[in-house]
Amino acid sequence: MRRSQYFLPTLKETPAEAQIVSHRLMLRAGMVRQSSAGIYSWLPLGFRVLMKIQRIVEEEQDALGCQQMLMPTIQPADLWRESGRYDAYGPEMLRISDRHKREMLYGPTNEEQITDIFRASLRSYKDLPKLLYHIQWKFRDEVRPRFGIMRGREFLMKDAYSFDLDYAGAKRSYNKMFVAYLRTFARLGLRAIPMRAESGPIGGDMSHEFIILADTGETAVFCHRDLLSMQPPGADVDYEGDLQPIVDRWTALYAATDDLHDPEKGKALGDALVTTRGIEIGHIFYFGTKYSKPMNAKVTGADGAEVFPEMGSYGIGVSRLVGGIIEACHDDNGIIWPASVAPFQVGLISLKADDKALSDVCERLYRDLQANGVDVLYDDRDERAGVKFADMDLIGLPWQLVVGPRGLKAGVVELKNRAGGERQELSLESALAKLTG
Ligand code: ATP
Ligand code: MG
Repeated sequence: MRRSQYFLPTLKETPAEAQIVSHRLMLRAGMVRQSSAGIYSWLPLGFRVLMKIQRIVEEEQDALGCQQMLMPTIQPADLWRESGRYDAYGPEMLRISDRHKREMLYGPTNEEQITDIFRASLRSYKDLPKLLYHIQWKFRDEVRPRFGIMRGREFLMKDAYSFDLDYAGAKRSYNKMFVAYLRTFARLGLRAIPMRAESGPIGGDMSHEFIILADTGETAVFCHRDLLSMQPPGADVDYEGDLQPIVDRWTALYAATDDLHDPEKGKALGDALVTTRGIEIGHIFYFGTKYSKPMNAKVTGADGAEVFPEMGSYGIGVSRLVGGIIEACHDDNGIIWPASVAPFQVGLISLKADDKALSDVCERLYRDLQANGVDVLYDDRDERAGVKFADMDLIGLPWQLVVGPRGLKAGVVELKNRAGGERQELSLESALAKLTG
């Protein structure tokens, strides 16, 4: 992409309305634009990151055997009357009516919808287990939308649903998601801590929130220091094998939020206790037959008796993650994208846009990098070097490749690593080899 043609409205000034660093940087980097309170448009740079995150989430859901589908944003109120949640949900639900005065709502989540789909098509214990997910916009009329897309009203969520014949099956599905979440967040460059949330109807640790640490987080976090250095499972994890040991390893160490924190247990940890704040980026939940029973979604068991499937739901805040990653990865100059979600891998900077020989070299680098599958943002604008450097630091691409007249005379270009700030002078060939290798 050529910067001269790209729609990237960066800002020099810090927007006054933004209270936290991710919100400030997203506005300054031209990633989003607010439409109304808690509702945002995603501009090209922001949208690229959002889709990269979505892709990783999809790959990890697919890997555990969860099947992707797509449910609508608008749902009929009657479905929610069946579960009893239509009245219970309160003012967070956006209720609307269509031209025939039928009551509808903009889905804040999809348990009722998926249970309705399930009961329409699945009949036998042989149809179980089933794991289904979609990635869709949700609407929740939050009392205090704030921090940009972190607590929006309209936001993108991955929500998955599991259907199993019994508790043991439900636990297996839960464990698959637990492990997949550890992998997903690690691939996004994040250190996420699973924290026991309120327990399910059968008790035990059947609800976990995944939290990343950030001073600006809305949740108080108390946890064992060693949780912060645990190695997430590798890509070779066997989802059909026994995942309980992995889950046990991650849940053995103390971690709690404000509501569940036990000061005595905290004290017992001594120096190993970390007290900080965090951002919830995912939530997994086992709830048994809470929806299958009232909505009469059942299958015939092996013995001919009717069984209400045991269900779980599993959310990831895909759009919230964009802000969460920035909270975790930035410095005074701007964003530092982990390579896995960076909107472009390389920012190519021409220091003299009106120099023909220099432009020719840049064009060649631009072409060669793209030909090798490297996403490049080529700053070909006729701007001062300082402006280009500041802009490139702000948008946080992992590598900056700087081509200037002086270096070119010596046959070298400069390669800067955004994260560490190290600069290297390299020949064109070595620079290309390094970036495409
Ligand atoms: P919170 O406690 O932050 O309101 P929640 O418990 O309501 O979250 P869930 O219903 O579990 O959230 O939704 C799954 C995920 O969706 C959350 O873990 C979070 O990452 C994301 N999410 C929830 N509400 C919002 C929001 N208002 N804006 C952006 N993302 C959200
Ligand atoms: Mg909420």
